[in-house]
Amino acid sequence: MTSAALPLSALENATEFLPRHIGIDAFDEAHMLSVIGEASRRTLIDAIVPRSIARASAMDLPAPVTEAAALAELQAIARKNQLLKSFIGQGYHGTHTPGVILRNVLENPAWYTAYTPYQAEISQGRMEALVNFQTMVCDLTAMPIANASMLDEATAAAEAMALAKRSVKSKSQRFIVSGEAHPQTIEVIQTRAAPLGIEVVLAQSPQEWQAALDGDHFAALAQYPATTGRIDDLRADVDKAHAQQAAFIAAADLLALTLLTPPGEWGADIVVGTTQRFGMPMGAGGPHAAYMACRDEFKRSLPGRLVGVSVDAHGHPAYRLALQTREQHIRREKATSNICTAQVLPAVIASMYAVYHGPEGLARIAQRVAAFTAILAQGLQQLGAPVQAQAAFDTLLLRTAGATKAIAARAVSMGVNLRIRSETELCITLDETTTRDDIQLLWRIFAQDGQPLPTFEAFENGVEPLIPAHLHRTSAYLTHPVFNTYHSETGMLRYIRQLSDKDLALDRTMIPLGSCTMKLNATSEMIPITWPEFAHIHPFAPADQLQGYQALDEQLRAWLCQATGYAGISLQPNAGSQGEYAGLLAIKAYHAAQGQGQRNICLIPSSAHGTNPASAQMVGMQVVVTKCDDNGNVDMADLQAKCEQHSQNLACVMITYPSTHGVFETSVKELCALVHQHGGRVYVDGANMNALVGVAAPGEFGGDVSHLNLHKTFCIPHGGGGPGVGPVCVVEDLVPYLPGHATGGITSKTGAVSAAPLGNAAVLPISWMYIRMMGADGLKAATETAILSANYISARLKDHYPTLYASEGQDGKPGHVAHECILDLRQLKETSGVMAEDVAKRLIDYGFHAPTLSFPVPNTLMVEPTESETLAELNRFIAAMIAIRGEIRQIESGAWPQDNNPLKNAPHTAESLLGAEWNRPYSRETAAYPLPALRKSKYWSPVGRVDNVYGDRNLFCSCLPVEDWEA
Ligand SMILES: *Cc1c(COP(=O)(O)O)cnc(C)c1O
Repeated sequence: MTSAALPLSALENATEFLPRHIGIDAFDEAHMLSVIGEASRRTLIDAIVPRSIARASAMDLPAPVTEAAALAELQAIARKNQLLKSFIGQGYHGTHTPGVILRNVLENPAWYTAYTPYQAEISQGRMEALVNFQTMVCDLTAMPIANASMLDEATAAAEAMALAKRSVKSKSQRFIVSGEAHPQTIEVIQTRAAPLGIEVVLAQSPQEWQAALDGDHFAALAQYPATTGRIDDLRADVDKAHAQQAAFIAAADLLALTLLTPPGEWGADIVVGTTQRFGMPMGAGGPHAAYMACRDEFKRSLPGRLVGVSVDAHGHPAYRLALQTREQHIRREKATSNICTAQVLPAVIASMYAVYHGPEGLARIAQRVAAFTAILAQGLQQLGAPVQAQAAFDTLLLRTAGATKAIAARAVSMGVNLRIRSETELCITLDETTTRDDIQLLWRIFAQDGQPLPTFEAFENGVEPLIPAHLHRTSAYLTHPVFNTYHSETGMLRYIRQLSDKDLALDRTMIPLGSCTMKLNATSEMIPITWPEFAHIHPFAPADQLQGYQALDEQLRAWLCQATGYAGISLQPNAGSQGEYAGLLAIKAYHAAQGQGQRNICLIPSSAHGTNPASAQMVGMQVVVTKCDDNGNVDMADLQAKCEQHSQNLACVMITYPSTHGVFETSVKELCALVHQHGGRVYVDGANMNALVGVAAPGEFGGDVSHLNLHKTFCIPHGGGGPGVGPVCVVEDLVPYLPGHATGGITSKTGAVSAAPLGNAAVLPISWMYIRMMGADGLKAATETAILSANYISARLKDHYPTLYASEGQDGKPGHVAHECILDLRQLKETSGVMAEDVAKRLIDYGFHAPTLSFPVPNTLMVEPTESETLAELNRFIAAMIAIRGEIRQIESGAWPQDNNPLKNAPHTAESLLGAEWNRPYSRETAAYPLPALRKSKYWSPVGRVDNVYGDRNLFCSCLPVEDWEA
């Protein structure tokens, strides 16, 4: 039949998105079902999803539209945002993302589709960028050690509070915060402090601040420069804190630090802040990378991820995640924080901004901002405006005698947002995008009718920045060659490409990571995030300018309620871990409101993800671990016993569904009922929603709270370890306890959990596009196909690697898995000395990113193929796994020694194979081309196996010494 003979509706469907997202077509599906031994996708799903939890009705979502139509609809929503020039500041600034970074990092799937760098060998490029980030932060703050990004400045400040509490000698419970810190930072600190019994002393005036410092406290935090722009000399304040055995925390602006004496030179113990203005658009509040730096003694309890330098099997330098940050699940309730997904992509962008501009370029940008600020102040003074400008970098404070709102309104009418600090205080903040015309415009706002306007030219000769002489920076920074080499666009382009070529991301291979759901991040979903209406808007712009975001928020929440069966959702948490934290806060506040504040026991099965106990500990709950049975299910008898034992104090249970063992437990409804009977609430970790959307809804089968990972199930790319979005979803009676945001105008019984009211707002269009293009049937088909693909892999590999856990089979048929399967490699240790890690590393030689290694069961691989992979790619993976099993047989038979074989020596670098000598018991061809297809398309690992132990013993977390770097 020619296409002309098709009905028009079929022709229109020719552009539908569904077959772009789902890699399996009807023909493939039939084949895969036959391998599994099921007649249809329907019978497969019926055999797997317990009838008792199946959805009562389909999701009520708008009918799907094509990519072009969805983009047009979203464009109309974006246009509801009004783009005024922002001088609000308060931690969010206009910035020029260099085009070479915008296109080749932010908009480049080689960077944005990568996973967290747990597999060090295939992540050398992004880890080099993160080491640049750490070096940049260390240099600018003058601190010895910095991590590879925090979620935002406010949560970084709260984490600094917790780090100080763990690390200082003082036993005080008092934490002092300067009233001149950013208000959203103060809010998030207050939310974090309350459940930990920390008393926050908010020092509203310099007098209160000094008085508080003289009293007992375990740490104090000041903004540098202050949120109102003032620049204080804090040396004496640091001494006062140290006299109390307390820590001093500075929240500092990195651009300002190019000109100001850095906190490390005046004694600060911890420094936090945002890197947003290093090239990452404001995006209504996120995503941006925050940073944390600290003194050397604190490094072993530093939260977040830390990239360090180690050596590979050939003695060459190689990067890997250091210390506690490598496998954060291990420490569970003893973890230093719950941060898992951080802000890697924004951190890479900030680091590239510093690489591209270099120290001189950054100083020029900062000097220009400081000079413009001084000129603005002079003009305002000439106009008689009440400007306070003794010392400032980029922000001026005006005391308006009650006229703040009128002035701000006049500014808006002229296309400009100023910051309303209070009835009587107004702030103006400049940034690298400020122009001469902007300064003239700002003067016009303050000019009386008929008053002559100052001219920029009148001030520009001999302008002196308002930086106090005794706080001028004198020390050098960013002296490493990496910050002084790539200042031409050609050089920068090639550096970015050189790094991304070292890494394996989704643009080259499936990343079959159980629990972490690495699926298609469609280009059409990504396009809107850099539209100016979404990218260049300040999170605290007046609400009527943010109507596009408001519409996006409302629609997305309504759709996610349909997907989960919950009554209310907040999109504020900016990672899954933060959603967990927000959900547990809601549970805690709910119990307290019922007069049940004693309920603080949180039951968590032993198979849970490490963030679960870490989050419980952050809200002051006591974790009690419950057992799993031999089939990997929650041990109901043990759970019942613990519910009874703790009945009066039971706050909640945290389960993952389907379980982290990859199984739909049939008893989940009974489990929920049991916990409810004892007055507890049920938290269902939503990381595995890719097995549920359209099929079953946690809000329907007994969950009270869940978080979602929009960066897993709903297509936001992982970005090499962030950004994420972790919406917290609750049933009706918990809705009043969803996070609020006083600074952003959201009131609630629970405080803010992120710096911005909508968290990582700028990436929400991605999930909106996905749902809009898939529709209810499409999303359900995606879930069912994800389950089909996992079962296909499990079935094809069963004679080579048994699947550890499966549901009970019916009618004598083998059991099934959910959307992921745990391949059991434990017996191989006995027969061949091969560990799961060796298979993971050997997969690199075959061109694959390994599945999830040793979680939740040690020495296993958890495989999650997702619906987006084609049958050809699934088969390529299966072929590699079978070939590796063949290699293991060679070891079992004694043909290759246990300690010298292609698995133990994997991954193989080109350099190691090209040496004049070759004395391995297998050929070079076996090492590099174990399957014929690899001769046509080969990924070469840039380093050999990385030595973790060496790196932890010799901790080094900055750019390589110059000799190594040049080599
Ligand atoms: C990924 C994951 C989390 C944590 O989510 P982040 O977004 O990385 O903070 C929690 N639980 C489970 C089961 C997960 O897989």
